[in-house]
Amino acid sequence: LPGRFGFIGLGAMGFPMAVQLCRKLPSTTSVAVFDINKAAIENFVGKVDNPTRIYAAQDAKDVAEHADCIITIVPEGSHVKVVYLTSETGLLAADTAGKLFIDSSTIDPGTSLEVGKAVSASQSTHPPSFYDAPVSGGTAGAEKGILTFMVGAAPDDPKFPLLKEILLCMGTSVNPCGGPSLGLAAKLSNNYLSGLIALATAEAMNLGMRCGLDPKVLSNCFASSSGGSWVNSTVNPVPGVSPDAVTSKNYEGGFKVQLMKKDMTLAIEAAKQVGAKLVLAGSGLAAYAAASEDPQCRDRDSRVVYRWLGGHEP
Ligand code: NAD
Repeated sequence: LPGRFGFIGLGAMGFPMAVQLCRKLPSTTSVAVFDINKAAIENFVGKVDNPTRIYAAQDAKDVAEHADCIITIVPEGSHVKVVYLTSETGLLAADTAGKLFIDSSTIDPGTSLEVGKAVSASQSTHPPSFYDAPVSGGTAGAEKGILTFMVGAAPDDPKFPLLKEILLCMGTSVNPCGGPSLGLAAKLSNNYLSGLIALATAEAMNLGMRCGLDPKVLSNCFASSSGGSWVNSTVNPVPGVSPDAVTSKNYEGGFKVQLMKKDMTLAIEAAKQVGAKLVLAGSGLAAYAAASEDPQCRDRDSRVVYRWLGGHEP
């Protein structure tokens, strides 16, 4: 493993991922961190076991100057471009020779390919590498270090064993998806599916409860029947059904409803480009878009669509 790591984006996902990374890397490895939110950097330095190994960087370029492997996880494609391509302070403003860049943000495949090309072109004698490696598993998975990574690399890519070793510091499943941007294609397909499953589970729970069922009884029926799912059993949209999940904590934290709207939109754009017919996309996107604008739902976990539907909350 490289002896100098960098991490950019200490948000709901990035913060616990970086904590796990520091825990699993050898204690001699340095970690340079940056976020435009200064408080996130300060909290991070206070949270890790061995703060002396942490370097609080001034900007993305400063991270690249202090690291040989840099992981980025920021909200959208526009933020990824800012982090990599800003002329004076971006990652590519540093000497990138031989460095490894891993972007775990969920963004559109086109932007990822564009940034990947810019990374390759930034140094000709010893070109750096760039991989898309979006994640699934939510903030709880990030805190426990049990994320799934979908990597834009072929299984026989010579760098894949190294990527796997690095990503296993933060997760338990690292999937080579075939080539550049295919990690994102897998992630967008997955979130399209999980967003619709969450909405369908919220609707079905609301239906059954209005008919008189106790929510836990109903969720247990789903779990051992054809309507069961990870959402139903782990992060059921109805408060109280999954007591440890964000859905039982006023939907605070987790995967923001606006991010689900973003991922649905990205999936629909990708589907248009490849001619994939999506029958349920319109209703799904409309529900998440409306919930994103609702003051009772905005900034809360995406399973808050149950609240948006008018479901009963204990
Ligand atoms: P978040 O908004 O909580 O965190 C993003 C962080 O990036 C913030 O701390 C922000 O200050 C920082 N940031 C933004 N622009 C920056 C810049 N130019 N330089 C440095 N830092 C910058 O978002 P999140 O929930 O952590 O999500 C990040 C990405 O991971 C998104 O693409 C999201 O779709 C994806 N994701 C999120 C979850 C989840 O459950 N939250 C799960 C899987 C994937």
